[in-house]
Amino acid sequence: MVRFKQNNIAIVGAGPSGVYCALNILKEFKERKFNSFTVTLFDKSEPLKTLLKTGGGRCNITNSISDIKDFASNYPRGEKFLYSLFSRHSNIDTINYFSSIGIKTYTQSDNRVFPVSNSAKYVRNKMLDELFKSKNIKIVKKRINSIKDIQNFDAIVVSNGSKDSENLIKSTGQKYIPFKKALCSLIINDFDCPMGVSVKSLDGEFIFTKNAISGPLAFKISSINAFKSFPYDIKINLFESEKLLDLAKKYPKKSIGNLVSSFIPRALAKRTVKNFDINAAEASKNILKSYSFLTLNVKAASPSGEIVNAGGIDLCAVDKNCKSKTTDNLWFCGEILNIDGFCGGFNLQNCWSSAYVVAIDVVSFIIKKNNGVV
Ligand SMILES: Cc1cc2nc3c(=O)[nH]c(=O)nc-3n(C[C@H](O)[C@H](O)[C@H](O)COP(=O)(O)OP(=O)(O)OC[C@H]3O[C@@H](n4cnc5c(N)ncnc54)[C@H](O)[C@@H]3O)c2cc1C
Repeated sequence: MVRFKQNNIAIVGAGPSGVYCALNILKEFKERKFNSFTVTLFDKSEPLKTLLKTGGGRCNITNSISDIKDFASNYPRGEKFLYSLFSRHSNIDTINYFSSIGIKTYTQSDNRVFPVSNSAKYVRNKMLDELFKSKNIKIVKKRINSIKDIQNFDAIVVSNGSKDSENLIKSTGQKYIPFKKALCSLIINDFDCPMGVSVKSLDGEFIFTKNAISGPLAFKISSINAFKSFPYDIKINLFESEKLLDLAKKYPKKSIGNLVSSFIPRALAKRTVKNFDINAAEASKNILKSYSFLTLNVKAASPSGEIVNAGGIDLCAVDKNCKSKTTDNLWFCGEILNIDGFCGGFNLQNCWSSAYVVAIDVVSFIIKKNNGVV
């Protein structure tokens, strides 16, 4: 039997995608009773450090939406590519895997899935404990600046996220889309933001910070518009005019300002309703319906504090296993791919699913190179 060099696998980046890929490589080799390999995880920092801040420290592992297409519709970039990844490793497969290593989960009423421990630190520790059970794993604290630094490895997985990866991507020669901030707050300069006020609008929830809007709706808007140039217009539907008309009929002596304050916080109503003190009876139906306070019209001036980045390895440059179409031993998984989702566990699920698919393909590649002899 001719061994394929030393069966050395390099994974660059020990974030969620890199570590999950390593765990599944170990599992797959074990199931295929193949033991002569080494997985080296390179990270410039501590392994799974990025997981610690997820979900506000609780780690929103995934989302419970059961239909693959519905699930994938939560990704402004990568939707169709993900059908194939999710069909091979879904949110349920992820939940089952985590359960198998002692991470039990629960689902919130909004479909977000969290560990029962409510602790990202617990998830991190359990994943690392599982990793260190294997003698085939090595973690090396090192920044990889170029693919040339690891060219002696038989298989290379690049999973170093989107924050510091452009140089490494360029060194691989793969086609990529420059990163843009997504899931971020939006700085607003043309409106006096009532700081700390949170709003449940018809389009979703958001919160005003000092000079920005933040929270789920702001993140969603920023994500959809990730490749739009700043400044751009935002229109948020605050509440239904019909409901205001009903109230106006019921309480004709109340001021419009007070009526509007039953749908949106008073601090916001004060800033949006011009004639706050006019009685409802004095305002005609048309005026009530056409009042600008039904929508919040502002300009997003710039992004602030991104959670993920849009952009990354062009999905046309990889096959369905996230393997480079031009380099025989190179794979990508996680946020470095041009895939990003909304808030709700979707970004981590991209990491888990792409990492799993890569792991299975890497193992097949190594075993095949060993002439199929295990
Ligand atoms: C505050 C915050 C909260 C979030 N909460 C959630 C959540 O609850 N649910 C969810 O689904 N998503 C969440 N996300 C998004 C999620 O964390 C990311 O999508 C995910 O971490 C991406 O994983 P990754 O492994 O692909 O990359 P990363 O997590 O970015 O990991 C990359 C790793 O590579 C290392 N690295 C980088 N460059 C190099 C190099 N040149 N050489 C060696 N090592 C390198 C880094 O040190 C890092 O460890 C959150 C993001 C943030 C910022």
